[in-house]
Amino acid sequence: MLPGVLSQARAATEVILTLAPDSSLPPRADPGGFRFDNSWLRDLPGTFVAQAPDTAPAPQILLLNRALAGTLGLEPDALLAHPGWFAGGALPQGAEPVALAYAGHQFGGFSPQLGDGRAHLLGEHIAPDGRRWDIQLKGSGRTPFSRGGDGKAALGPMLREYLISEAMAALGVPTTRSLAVALTGETVRREAGRLPGAVVTRVAASHLRVGTLQFWAARGDHGTLARVVDYAIARHDPDLMGRDDRVLAFFDRVTARQARLVAQWMGLGFVHGVLNTDNVALSGETIDYGPCAFMEAYAPGTVFSSIDHQGRYAYANQPLILGWNLAKLAEALLPLLGEAEPAVAVLNDRLDRVAGLYRAEWLRLMREKLGLAGEAAADGDLADGFLASMDGQGADWTLAFRHLARAAEGDAGPLRAQFADPARLDAWLGPWRARLRADAPEHLRRTNPLVIPRNHKVEEALAAAGQGDLAPFTALLAQVSDPYSEAPGREAFSLPAPTGFGDYVTFCGT
Ligand code: AMP
Ligand code: MG
Repeated sequence: MLPGVLSQARAATEVILTLAPDSSLPPRADPGGFRFDNSWLRDLPGTFVAQAPDTAPAPQILLLNRALAGTLGLEPDALLAHPGWFAGGALPQGAEPVALAYAGHQFGGFSPQLGDGRAHLLGEHIAPDGRRWDIQLKGSGRTPFSRGGDGKAALGPMLREYLISEAMAALGVPTTRSLAVALTGETVRREAGRLPGAVVTRVAASHLRVGTLQFWAARGDHGTLARVVDYAIARHDPDLMGRDDRVLAFFDRVTARQARLVAQWMGLGFVHGVLNTDNVALSGETIDYGPCAFMEAYAPGTVFSSIDHQGRYAYANQPLILGWNLAKLAEALLPLLGEAEPAVAVLNDRLDRVAGLYRAEWLRLMREKLGLAGEAAADGDLADGFLASMDGQGADWTLAFRHLARAAEGDAGPLRAQFADPARLDAWLGPWRARLRADAPEHLRRTNPLVIPRNHKVEEALAAAGQGDLAPFTALLAQVSDPYSEAPGREAFSLPAPTGFGDYVTFCGT
């Protein structure tokens, strides 16, 4: 049976992504608009449900990402003429809206059917450089995967996704992007009362998730599973197409991307908050900005999400959850490798190596964040030592790293001021200075951000936006889109929350 599955998959590979991107861009039917080429629909029939977004009664574009539109080869003014494209109700030509099927482990428990419950994939836009981007509306209405949900989204969480994903992009972290936020003109009912309804337009390298593969593996539909895996390979690792060992090689690629991604999150103090397998993208992009937030005072157990009672997705647990989620990916791929003993042993061996791979990525990143010259055997101890010196000290994660630049110039004052008791830090500074690269101050300012989306600033901006004042939001967006420079007037955006702000609690974006 298994060879049959694989040969079927191999045949499928030949028809996957037949478009030759750079030589033949698909036509642009709307002037200044999208060039859709919908390979998912062509190559993966049966894995989605055709479903149009709801019609918004009064569509209005609130935010348009002009820079992103530019890199996608879209003309912002042309887009602004079509609020219905971004709020629902009008479709750009070439769009073929669908809701995608996926499953996922949520907080450790398996849900065999999740899927796009409030999202519509409009299609794949081909940018001028030939790159393929999923264009998806989120908050655009019910689908067959909605279960009890209303398929909608409130303005606050959609603005939050826009803000944080754009901050992550500016920080150099692989992420889905936000092209627009549009008001629908209707209200949605939430715990807090009736809130303005909104839709975010998400741009992603793809919406393939670990949970997409789990959906087919759980059903025992190994033929479709093989096709979806080949499709994922065609989109993200085309150099592996047609190789006999491509499934295992693909697993290694996803592992490498995820290890690197989680290391980047850890370097920034980013807590994703809901690392369920349906929120792990095979592309290696950060996806699903629900309850995420940035840690301020360094504390390994930091949790923001109101529903994460056990701390499963706490800051310091993220590398462990990486391994857990990759184990679920391995299980989903197992049927394509043959469920016999050798395949299990091969995958187990891969999983045993995840912690080491992650540690290597983290250490590589820490060498950058600490401004070290080359590599030395004791760098791991040095990096661990900095974190240990911060533990329990109330030191702001972002500013502690940022102030290393001044310390490298000889002024450790601002760094020491972050610590309740800098004794351990003082002992650490000497060995650290001995390892610094020649251009450490400039390097450290390029590597450690001054401005991240501070929780109290995010809340302040979202509260004002809810009252119809978008100015604080756009000011904050401008700040987080320029994380490294030291222009005057940035202090208010670089400092942690005042003590009166209290513990920060976030909610999943329903
Ligand atoms: P998330 O927590 O955003 O990763 O979503 C988990 C699942 O719940 C996905 O299948 C979503 O499509 C679905 N979902 C979230 N919010 C809604 C909503 N308002 N209506 C319908 N489905 C939703
Ligand atoms: Mg999700």
